[in-house]
Amino acid sequence: MKDEKKVKIVKRIKIDADQCNGCRACEAICAAFHAEPKYSSVNPARARIHVIHDPLRDIYLPVYAGEYTPAECAGRNTYTLNGKEYDECAFCRASCPSRDLFKEPDSGLPLKCDMCETDPPLEEPMCVQVCIDDALTYEEVEVEVEEEEEAKIEDLELGLEALIKKYGLDETMKIMARMAASEQE
Ligand code: SF4
Ligand code: SF4
Repeated sequence: MKDEKKVKIVKRIKIDADQCNGCRACEAICAAFHAEPKYSSVNPARARIHVIHDPLRDIYLPVYAGEYTPAECAGRNTYTLNGKEYDECAFCRASCPSRDLFKEPDSGLPLKCDMCETDPPLEEPMCVQVCIDDALTYEEVEVEVEEEEEAKIEDLELGLEALIKKYGLDETMKIMARMAASEQE
């Protein structure tokens, strides 16, 4: 019998930092949507998205909560973008022991973006719905299971595209070169 390829839906939120105005509505709605009971409180410390702000350059960059890690990194990277040095953990998505970000403030339990999975499902995650400036856009992509690796590469390409658009090819290349050098140390 011929093998049938399985199709999987990959949910993605694309971030266009240039469009972000720093309103933090995404943080508020995420916290409210995940409150128990729903919408009973709005505490951004419980949000699964965090907007990084650089006041001097008027830059806002939304970062989604990713996987929990039980140990902090043994090595750190320092990012210099457009002449400004960023905290080595600034863009990290992990909930980890070295900081309070992406942890439930009362219990300390890790928080992770769940794409607002609910029953019945939403047409779009809540943070995307409230982002009126389209800094966040939602898309679903069908991939065959064997093509999972390809989907990861697509995600990487999207991330690189966003960095190049924001900081230019030269600056992005310099960052990657620095990261590669520190990996080899
Ligand atoms: S809702 Fe959109 S514009 Fe507002 S802070 Fe979040 S990502 Fe930025
Ligand atoms: S997709 Fe849902 S869970 Fe994830 S950050 Fe947005 S509102 Fe929070």
